[in-house]
Amino acid sequence: MSRRTGSASRIGIVGGGQLGRMLGLAGIPLGLSFRFVDTGADSPAAAVGEVLPGPLDDPRLLRQLARGSDVLSFDWENASVAALARATRGLRGRIAPPLRALAVGQDRLNEKRLFERLGIPTTRYAAVSTLPQLRRAVARIGLPGVLKTRSFGYDGKGQAVICSAEEIPAAFRSLEGAPLLYEEYVPFESEVSALGARAVDGSEAIYPLTRNWHQHGILRLSLAPWEDAALVRQATRHLRAVLDDLDYVGLLAIEFFVRKGRLYANELAPRVHNSGHWTIEGSETSQFENHVRAIAGLPLGNVASRGHCAMLNLIGRMPPRAELLAVPGLHLHDYDKAPRPGRKLGHCTLVAASATERNRRTRALLQALALKLPDLP
Ligand code: AMP
Repeated sequence: MSRRTGSASRIGIVGGGQLGRMLGLAGIPLGLSFRFVDTGADSPAAAVGEVLPGPLDDPRLLRQLARGSDVLSFDWENASVAALARATRGLRGRIAPPLRALAVGQDRLNEKRLFERLGIPTTRYAAVSTLPQLRRAVARIGLPGVLKTRSFGYDGKGQAVICSAEEIPAAFRSLEGAPLLYEEYVPFESEVSALGARAVDGSEAIYPLTRNWHQHGILRLSLAPWEDAALVRQATRHLRAVLDDLDYVGLLAIEFFVRKGRLYANELAPRVHNSGHWTIEGSETSQFENHVRAIAGLPLGNVASRGHCAMLNLIGRMPPRAELLAVPGLHLHDYDKAPRPGRKLGHCTLVAASATERNRRTRALLQALALKLPDLP
């Protein structure tokens, strides 16, 4: 605890990827310090705090992290709920976001049930673990559909699209062994995400809506604020319903499909989210700063936008730094990660005075990097 303010000042984070690194970059100016548990001592977060190297569910490491922290958090939604609960037993420090939210976020079935209970529209689905169950689910829900692992799926991994009855056995075999969920394929018009933070006293700060473009299941581009009043109203209502129900502390993201003017919740993330990276330059208070403010027991910051933003993920191969930095007004974030196909290595953000200007500069940037995305404004 900080002697001056009584709020938490030592933050322990399970996971030390780029999200942990950006949490540190946001929290250090506030006088907070960071420690991480991560599999490699050379993880991206090593630039902003000590990394205790080892498995993310190692009881000894988690206990060590908990003892040296005023509050524990995670930058990875597959952190072990049971191991985290054990690590903090008998200690005064808390865990934020709450473990209940973590348990929901790591199982697609729990997410669907939460959305249904709160009256948030979601895709039709069925939990399946055998081939006959999958056949029955396809008969009930129809084709095309998507078979997904309930847990440990990310960036489109752990998914198989099924378009015809003949494809059912191969799709099942490709994911067999893990608990699965079959859901209808949504021919969406667009994808958006809603991000908001909730503080210990229940106050909330909701960011403007973000529109997202995915490629091969991986987020590639986000544009924000996405000014569609009817969608913003729905997204805000759904986000507040989840934040309040979970008695949430920290930043929460929900991803939605948009179809015929209506939002369908796809999944939630009980942590800072890739589609909110534009808030670093584009918002009065970034998602990272509001997450650390919330978990440290500090008041939330203003989430007004500073302009019209585009955030582009740099995936698989980092373009030459000089080439990117030659683009006027471009903000570069290099996560210092080894290149690998499909791996998020960094991102860059543009902030413009108008949506038209942002869209023009975004199209020029995509062209310079030889990237093509459909339905760009
Ligand atoms: P997820 O891991 O569920 O976020 O899926 C990654 C991406 O795959 C989504 O952002 C969509 O672009 C696509 N996708 C996932 N589920 C569906 C679905 N039921 N219908 C259509 N597209 C989907």
